[in-house]
Amino acid sequence: MLEDKNIPKTPIATLGEFALIEALTKSFEIKESSTQFGIGDDAAVIQHEKDETLISTDLLIEGIHFDLSYMPLKHLGYKAVMVNLSDIFAMNAVATQITVSIAVSNRFPLEALEELYLGIHLACKNYKVDLVGGDTTSSTKGLVISVTAIGKANKDEIAFRNGAKEGNLVLVTGDLGGAFMGLQVLEREKAVFQVNQQSQPDLSEYSYCIERQLKPESRVDIKALLKDLGVKPTAMIDVSDGLSSEILHLSKASKLGCQIYEDKIPIDPEVVKTCEEFKINNTTAALNGGDDYELLFTIEQSDFEKVKGHPHLSIIGHMTDEACGYNMVTGLGQQIELTAQGWNGIKEEEKD
Ligand code: ADP
Ligand code: MG
Repeated sequence: MLEDKNIPKTPIATLGEFALIEALTKSFEIKESSTQFGIGDDAAVIQHEKDETLISTDLLIEGIHFDLSYMPLKHLGYKAVMVNLSDIFAMNAVATQITVSIAVSNRFPLEALEELYLGIHLACKNYKVDLVGGDTTSSTKGLVISVTAIGKANKDEIAFRNGAKEGNLVLVTGDLGGAFMGLQVLEREKAVFQVNQQSQPDLSEYSYCIERQLKPESRVDIKALLKDLGVKPTAMIDVSDGLSSEILHLSKASKLGCQIYEDKIPIDPEVVKTCEEFKINNTTAALNGGDDYELLFTIEQSDFEKVKGHPHLSIIGHMTDEACGYNMVTGLGQQIELTAQGWNGIKEEEKD
């Protein structure tokens, strides 16, 4: 994608740091009322009045978190923002600003970085957040992107991981496993392409999975949706490393056990079909896949009627006493223990 030899490219070395920052950020406007001052000084200034301020950062490294051979830079920019906004939404908060820091090698011309920033710009526009700063530096080889997301919420509305109570219902938004299966399809096509560079695969039958991997959306809608239903989440976490790993985090933080039901885990039909083709169990894709950016949360049992049958929400189980452990009842009625096999970009051998 960077190798389109017909169009001349601008090496970043010809620009200098300040011209580069200017080129990348000039089209961003300040829209959010809490942004007092954005890019252009030593620090941005934000006024959140009576609300609490929430801050979350993620670091994305080429070769670990993304592969540019199938991830277009525009999508990468968009996804880097989604990953971070998702963490703010997972606190039941509203996202307001981001900062973006990049380390780039001279392998990337200005035009490539502009593509990256097009994606960042689109994410800012769609999610109504301001880009208020960042840092730009060089790297010897790969691309590194760090995004910090800033948000706000009323103190009483913030949902921590540790707030679940025994008997609370466990819910998940949207559906799971799609991004993982999208990755399987893309990895397979990459392998095919390496053997046969003429291959022009038709990936239309995997469009949902691929979109979940390359252009994920984060759940900006859930805070208002729950408020409208009159439901307050007691605990919340975003599903970035697979359902299993996230429900363990939430349970352990709340000092509780959990029981979920395999039949209740929402999985899109295209994901089921793709799993069959790849001989991957679709529950495994949902439990252990990653990058879904849905929200997992708990609510009072008395709120059951308010959420029942909602198209965006699935009730997948309930919280139990800590001594009961972390369990899933399979479709065949067997109880199995949930383990943290979430993938988090750290390879098995590097885990401590
Ligand atoms: P400093 O020397 O104080 O670190 P910089 O020259 O790095 O300042 O940055 C100048 C301005 O541009 C600052 O407001 C900074 O937040 C912003 N900025 C720098 N790099 C980026 C980037 N990659 N994306 C967005 N804003 C950036
Ligand atoms: Mg700087």
